[in-house]
Amino acid sequence: MTEPAQPIAPTEVSRADQMFPTLTPTQIERVAARGRLRPIRKGEVLVESGDHLVPFFVVVSGQVEIVQPFGTAETVVAVHQHGQFTGEVSMLSGRRSLVRARVSEPGELIELDREKLLTLVQTDSELGEIFMRAFILRRVELIAHGISDVVLVGSSHCSGTLRIKEFLTRNGHPYAYIDLDHDAGVQDLLDGFQVSVADVPVLICRGTRVLRNPTNEEVADCLGFNDDVDLGQIRDLIIVGAGPAGLAAAVYGASEGLDVLVVESDSPGGQAGSSSKIENYLGFPTGISGQDLAARAYAQAQKFGAQLVVAKGAVRLTCARKPYAIEIEGGPRLRSRSIIIASGAEYRRLPLDELSRFDGSGVYHGATFLEAQLCGGEEVVVIGGGNSAGQAAVFLAQTARKVHMLVRSGGLAETMSRYLIRRIEGSPDIILRTRTEVVGLAGGTHLERVRIRDNETGEVEERAIRHVFVMTGATPSTAWLDGCIALDGKRFIKTGPDLSPDDLAAARWPLARAPHLLETNLPGVFAVGDVRSGNVKRVASAVGEGSIAVSMVHQVLHE
Ligand SMILES: Cc1cc2nc3c(=O)[nH]c(=O)nc-3n(C[C@H](O)[C@H](O)[C@H](O)COP(=O)(O)OP(=O)(O)OC[C@H]3O[C@@H](n4cnc5c(N)ncnc54)[C@H](O)[C@@H]3O)c2cc1C
Repeated sequence: MTEPAQPIAPTEVSRADQMFPTLTPTQIERVAARGRLRPIRKGEVLVESGDHLVPFFVVVSGQVEIVQPFGTAETVVAVHQHGQFTGEVSMLSGRRSLVRARVSEPGELIELDREKLLTLVQTDSELGEIFMRAFILRRVELIAHGISDVVLVGSSHCSGTLRIKEFLTRNGHPYAYIDLDHDAGVQDLLDGFQVSVADVPVLICRGTRVLRNPTNEEVADCLGFNDDVDLGQIRDLIIVGAGPAGLAAAVYGASEGLDVLVVESDSPGGQAGSSSKIENYLGFPTGISGQDLAARAYAQAQKFGAQLVVAKGAVRLTCARKPYAIEIEGGPRLRSRSIIIASGAEYRRLPLDELSRFDGSGVYHGATFLEAQLCGGEEVVVIGGGNSAGQAAVFLAQTARKVHMLVRSGGLAETMSRYLIRRIEGSPDIILRTRTEVVGLAGGTHLERVRIRDNETGEVEERAIRHVFVMTGATPSTAWLDGCIALDGKRFIKTGPDLSPDDLAAARWPLARAPHLLETNLPGVFAVGDVRSGNVKRVASAVGEGSIAVSMVHQVLHE
C-alpha cells in the first residue's frame, strides 16, 4: 500500500528574515577578511542621521540599535545582534543616512568602508545577494512607514504636491506626508516653521530647513542627492538620461569596469517610469510597474559602482575638443572620453490638467494588443492626424465598438498616408471628426468621461468614454544638442548607417572606419532608445540598445 502524498513543506524564508538575516560563521569570516574588527562601547554613535558615505558594520557581539531621531524623541527601527549587519540602500548610493546607529550593548563589530562593501557585493555573489536583498527590503519598509528625514505638507488638489511626491517616490526616498485638507493640527506645525497655507507644498527637510514650493532641483540639493558625485573627474562614459536605455547602459558599463556617470534631468525611470504596468518586458509574465523596474535597475547600476546625478539636465554638448564636455544646469562642465545619449522623447501632451492623473488608466500613448484588449466593445477616442493615429484607429476598430478620431485640422490628407486614409474612410466603426478637440477629462481612479469641442460651432458635448489614445507624436529631447549632432527631419538623432556621406562630411568625420551601428556623427558619442532616429518605442529595445552601445564604447576607448 502506498502512503498518501504529503504536502510539500514550504521552505520559504520569511520577509523579516530576508530583511534582517543572520550571517553564518563562514560568511562573517569572509566579511572580516575585508574589514577591521573593533570594540564598541555602550552609547557609542556609529552613524548619525544625515551622515553620508557611512561605513558598514557586522555585529560580532553586543547589540546595535537603529533609531530614527525626531527632535529630542526617537523611534527604534531595528536592533542588530550577533551576525546581523547595518545599512540600507543609501549604503550603495552614498547618500545621507536616514537613521542613527547606536551601540546598546558593548561588544565587537567588523567595520568596512563603503568602497570595500561595494567590492564585496560585486565579487561575493552569495553575500552580494543577501546584502542587496536586505538593503532594498529595508528601504521599502522605510518608505511604507514614512520613516524619513523629510516631511511634506501639501494638498491633494495641488499639482506641486503631486510633483514633489512623484520626485521623491521615483528617487526611492521615503517621506512623511501631511495633508492640509485632512490633518487637523497641521496649522500648529506650519506656525512652528512660520509658513502659511499659501506656501504649500512645503517640504521640511532634515528637521530644520523649510522649502516653500521647491523645485525638484532644490529638493535634491536639500536632501544631498548629488553630494557624493565628483563632477570634476574625467569619466570613461557619461550617459545622458536615466530611462530604460540609460540605466541599461549604466548597468553594463559599470559592471564591465567603466567609470560611469549618469546625468538625469528629473528622476530615474523615464517614460517607462510613468507606466503603471509593463506587460511585454521579457521575464515578467505578470507584468511589472515601470517604477519597480526603474528602481531595480537603479539599484543594480549603483551596485556596480555607477554614479547618478538627478534633477540636473544636460543643457549643452561641447564637441569642438576632446574629451567632449557636457554642461549641466547650474553645474560645471562634465568631461568624458565617451558619451551615450539616452535622453529619450516626451510624448506631446494635451494641455489638460487632468491628463497625468489618467496616464495608463484611460489615457494611453500607444495602441498595442494590450490596450486593445482593455477597451474591447467600448467607444474610444483617438487624438491625432498622423500615421501613428491612423494605424491606432484602424487597429482599435477591430475590437472597439466605435472609434472617434479627432483632428484639429480640416482633414487627414496632408498628414497621413493615403492607404490609411482609405481604410479609415472604409471603416464604418471609425468616425472622423475634423476641427475637433478634447477639452476635458473626468473620472475617479479611471477615466470615465470626455468633453469634446467642435471648434467650428463651439459646441461642447460630454461622452461616457473610458479610453483616450493620445497619438500626437513624440518630441525627442535633443534641443540641448544643437550644432554638434546630426538629426533627422523630426530632430531624432541619426546613427550608424542612417548617417549620409553629407552628414559625415559636415561633421568632418576623422576616422577611416564608418560610424558603428549606434554611433552618431561624432566618434565615441552614441545614441540609444527613443531619442534615436528609427527607434521602435519599446522598453526592451531601449534596454537592448543601451547594452549594445556599451560594447561599442569599449572599442572606441581602445581606438
Ligand atoms: C505611459 C507609457 C507607457 C508605456 N508602456 C510601455 C509598455 O508597456 N511596453 C513598452 O515596451 N514600452 C512602453 N512605453 C514606451 C517606453 O516607455 C519607451 O520606449 C522607453 O521608456 C524609452 O526609453 P529611453 O530610455 O530611450 O527614453 P525615456 O524613457 O524617454 O527616458 C529618457 C530619460 O532622459 C531624461 N532626459 C531628457 N532630456 C535630458 C537632458 N537634457 N539631460 C538629462 N536627462 C534628460 C528624461 O528625464 C528621461 O528620464 C510606454 C511609454 C509611456 C509614456
